[in-house]
Amino acid sequence: MLEESSEHQTRLDSVEAERWLHQRKIRILLQNHRHSWALIIIVSAILLFLSYGEDNFYICLIWWLSFTAFTVFRAWLTGCFSPPDFEIEDYKAWHERLLVLAFIAGVGWGIGAALVSINLSPLMQMYVLLILMGVSSASVPLLGAYMNIMWAFQIPALWPYMLWLAYNMGGHDGVILFLILFFYVLSIVIYMRRLEANFTESLSIQYEFEHLVASLNERNQQLQQANEKLEQLTLIDSLTKINNRRYFEMQLEKEWKRCIREQQCLSIIMIDIDYFKLYNDAYGHAGGDDCLRRVAHNLRRTVNRPGDVLARIGGEEFVAMLPAVDESGAYKVAESMQKNLLQAKIPHAKSSVSDYLTTSMGVASIYPSAEITTLMLFKLADKALYKAKENGRNQIVVAQQDL
Ligand code: GH3
Ligand code: MG
Ligand code: MG
Repeated sequence: MLEESSEHQTRLDSVEAERWLHQRKIRILLQNHRHSWALIIIVSAILLFLSYGEDNFYICLIWWLSFTAFTVFRAWLTGCFSPPDFEIEDYKAWHERLLVLAFIAGVGWGIGAALVSINLSPLMQMYVLLILMGVSSASVPLLGAYMNIMWAFQIPALWPYMLWLAYNMGGHDGVILFLILFFYVLSIVIYMRRLEANFTESLSIQYEFEHLVASLNERNQQLQQANEKLEQLTLIDSLTKINNRRYFEMQLEKEWKRCIREQQCLSIIMIDIDYFKLYNDAYGHAGGDDCLRRVAHNLRRTVNRPGDVLARIGGEEFVAMLPAVDESGAYKVAESMQKNLLQAKIPHAKSSVSDYLTTSMGVASIYPSAEITTLMLFKLADKALYKAKENGRNQIVVAQQDL
């Protein structure tokens, strides 16, 4: 099963690679069109010029105008006048289109050469032949990405004219011309085979390179995501899924500095569940864990402003940090937290203050400055919490600022 799927994978890869290769080749052909259409018009004008002053000049002119119109049409069709990198989705259709266009262009050159040559001297006909050979040679780098497209152009452009010329010359000269044609074609065949091999190889290397870069990028992204997740995990309390002490301390330092700069008040609320040891005794450790999750969830409902931080910093102790909130604001938040918890009605059979789970809270507010530390704020809140416990639990005590 595994082998089957991996075989399928390789086949899929090679199909994709082939598709990519064709797309590249078509792209190159289209780019070449962009570079060559103006040159084609100029060279065909030179061919036309050879017939200047001859009887059939106007017929040749009509040929040249039609051929130029076709060349411009071909340039338009192959996207020479549109933005340079459009997507080539259907490369097979493009291949056929380019093949037909190359063939028509080849026939166009052949007809032009024949028309121009009718009244010319043998020497001038040789010039025409030279132009055709030049054009044919140029088609090797320009159309050579696909051998069949190149031949579709070259054969009608050059062969009939050359064979006709060799036939007309006849005798010794004709044979020599025929041999020249033969060796010319032979050398192009040899050259093309090499070119295509090198071309395919260099494109394959490029394909592999691109894939390598893509997979490296993907790996990098995965690694980054894993890192972010890991970082998150180290900042989150695994039991309650709210932030942990480490995150709280990091944020407190950050907010502390910001409040110094902006001269804002910073408040924290220390929250401790009352008689939690007895809760565990009554409902078991798993019940205790469940209770901690419910408490965290309820506290979260109140502490939800951006910048606020709620964290579990010990067994059954929580802390809330409220930047830019003063003493009375923090007291209101603490009240709201207690109210929410009471509404949750978590039964606590062994509590001596209520039938339900209660908390004691210590609130401390301060205008941070360079002279005091976060630890002092912490101690203030802790002291207030201690007082709340001492006073009988299930209450909020605001710290006296006797720093
Ligand atoms: P007080 O009202 O004075 O705060 O009494 P308390 O019993 O809540 O306080 P104490 O510090 O004596 O006990 C805290 C208990 O919390 C002890 C421990 O069994 C329990 N505890 C600490 N961490 C966890 C935890 O992760 N899960 C559970 N289920 N219990 C925990
Ligand atoms: Mg405690
Ligand atoms: Mg407690």
